[in-house]
Amino acid sequence: MKIAKHVRKLEGYVPGEQPRSRSVVKLNTNENPYQPSPACGDVLRRFSLDRLRRYPDPVFTDLRGAIAELNGARPECVFVGNGSDEILSVAARAFVEDDESIGSLDPSYSLYKTLAAIRNVKWVGVAGGAKFDAPKALALLKAKRTSLFLWTNPNAPTGEFAEPETIAAFAKRFPGVLIVDEAYVDFSRANCMALATDAANGNVIVMRTFSRSYSLAGLRVGYCVGPEPLVAAMYKVKDSYNVDAVAQSVALAALKDQKWMRANAAKVVRTRGRFAAALASRGWDVVPSESNFVFAKPPAPETAAELFAWLRERNIFVRYFPGPKTGERLRITIGTDGQMKALLSALDDRFSKGC
Ligand code: PMP
Repeated sequence: MKIAKHVRKLEGYVPGEQPRSRSVVKLNTNENPYQPSPACGDVLRRFSLDRLRRYPDPVFTDLRGAIAELNGARPECVFVGNGSDEILSVAARAFVEDDESIGSLDPSYSLYKTLAAIRNVKWVGVAGGAKFDAPKALALLKAKRTSLFLWTNPNAPTGEFAEPETIAAFAKRFPGVLIVDEAYVDFSRANCMALATDAANGNVIVMRTFSRSYSLAGLRVGYCVGPEPLVAAMYKVKDSYNVDAVAQSVALAALKDQKWMRANAAKVVRTRGRFAAALASRGWDVVPSESNFVFAKPPAPETAAELFAWLRERNIFVRYFPGPKTGERLRITIGTDGQMKALLSALDDRFSKGC
């Protein structure tokens, strides 16, 4: 069997575990604990079988129009993907030559590295948060011929938020395409959409997803907004029917119910504040988060790795990323108040027993 050399070497991306059991306290993949808008249910109930018989709209006209209107952009500047993960691979196809590289913050969403490996180009990491040094980062990216930079804001798994001005200043000096991955931005105090809609910036794309704040991770829809020539290039290299008819209609219904999305995001943010304070009062070091998760280090002698395994045995799933930059901490999704209470009482149980 002939398998391409770079694919033979490739370590595939490993998504967070999706347990079959419903009794798990599932705080490992940053899903929203609340239901999507009831309008999504109405669309599904009324969906005509005849629409499944036909191909979907290849350029998602209705959804694209609504996204454009919501974000103050022209429809030509909007692209929709089968989850924002697909948008990332379309971008890697559209904006990177074989001798160029893909860059991101480090640590950040680990799929980026895999994406570069799939595209058979190098991945380049630069420090984020307080350690971000723009001149140093720009010099490294220039040396490595980085043509696509993926800046997650707020970042994952840290939850740290970079000010839009910092990203704008970087974009001005970065010669390649900058995608600001705003998967978690509805849980933050600000966003970078203005950078994508401002005609003065020819290289900034802002990407969002329906998976978090809209509670639709199972539907697989993400979108991005950017300069028309870049978006047109993405349309050229996408699969013909990359977003199915059901997904287009349900996402449109969710998008139109901003009130529902905002109310759920606000609930998550309130729970995040209470949970972060509860961890801090128990001696944890919690990175200030603008996302729907916290990245926290347990008090010594407890280790993140041991605690992860111990919680898992008790059907409480959180995320652990081994490695020098992430291995001291757990990434804990913000669920309902009840789920966070279950986690805290398990932790109290363990610590009171002096384990
Ligand atoms: N960007 C970031 C930073 C993420 O954490 C994720 C989800 N793991 C995605 C993009 C992809 O989200 P989706 O494909 O569900 O839109």
